Amino acid sequence: MDPRVLEEMLPYFTVHYGNASSKTHSFGWVADEAVKIAREKVAALIGARPDEITFTSGATEAINLGIKGYVESNRSGRRKIIVSAAEHKAVLDTCTHLQKVGAEITVLPVGPDGLVEPAVLASILDEHTLLVCIMLANNETGVVQPIRTLSDLTHEKGAVFFSDTTQAAGKIPFDVMKTGVDMCCLSAHKFYGPKGTGALFARKNHPRIKLTAQADGGGHENGLRSGTLNVPGIAGMGKAAELAAAECNSAGEKISGLRDLLENSLVNTGKVFPNGNILQRLPNTSNLRFRDIRASSLIPVFPWIAMATGSACTSALPEPSHVLRAMGLSTEEAWSSIRFSFGRFNTMEETERVAGAFRDFLGKQ
Ligand SMILES: *Cc1c(COP(=O)(O)O)cnc(C)c1O
Repeated sequence: MDPRVLEEMLPYFTVHYGNASSKTHSFGWVADEAVKIAREKVAALIGARPDEITFTSGATEAINLGIKGYVESNRSGRRKIIVSAAEHKAVLDTCTHLQKVGAEITVLPVGPDGLVEPAVLASILDEHTLLVCIMLANNETGVVQPIRTLSDLTHEKGAVFFSDTTQAAGKIPFDVMKTGVDMCCLSAHKFYGPKGTGALFARKNHPRIKLTAQADGGGHENGLRSGTLNVPGIAGMGKAAELAAAECNSAGEKISGLRDLLENSLVNTGKVFPNGNILQRLPNTSNLRFRDIRASSLIPVFPWIAMATGSACTSALPEPSHVLRAMGLSTEEAWSSIRFSFGRFNTMEETERVAGAFRDFLGKQ
């Protein structure tokens, strides 16, 4: 977390401990004001209106609220949901749940470079399609989809476009108007904010997205998400959004410089190959396949490097990455792949140390 975010949060644990829903005293008003400002900053990060933002406990909850909430409130008779094969488990598992209760799920394949082919989407979209779910940037490969083209195709058939923008928001410029996204989600800890705070964007106009709440109770967040608001977390998310809006371009350049340094250094050995389209990609992610080396034997050699196969979100499951498998990699190739991610606080010295360690290791293979 960015220290400036922590600084913003601290008073809401200590002096400003009021409940944002307490309307009868100044302690509540101060907390409510903090939430209001944070909502404006989060909305500004993605070009939305503040009243289109619902705070949640993270992207997973926002995804559940957006997708289930929209499907449950739908009265059009459309039942088909199109979902890309490389989505995060939060989206895939939500769709699997909906399939059990009557939705028709069609999985949209991705190409070997991780990109969705617009023509393939066009070929499976029809007048029964209610919702299309395609992420903006992939959390394992960083691959960025041609989202405007995909949302246009979706709207031509009268369907609604949901994009999991958790990984992209705050890392690359993203605007819900320019991309034609009807619903999207954010998670504060993906852009230097606190863990356990996120948001759903749901468009209020053209089209107006109607949602059924997934948590009933006191009617917080306009009746969409009941429960006492996490005021420190929300204040932190607002600050993180403000910093990301101001700094993501300059930070992105620095971060991609470090990422490319490591990637090129390993690819030049001839034993390492990048997974996914390396041109349409987030600045911070590198997903690399090591020839004839299993990641599970490589990762323990370097416990001081925080690298992983797949994503932290699915690491409880001993399965090869479904994202890489969807791109056509064999099980063995998927097991030989490692994701590296860089951030604002990584240094050139750290990057050179990691590159050096890997080059030594590969030299002995
Ligand atoms: C991290 C992530 C999520 C889940 O976010 P949480 O805040 O942990 O629930 C969903 N989708 C993508 C693409 C992510 O990277």
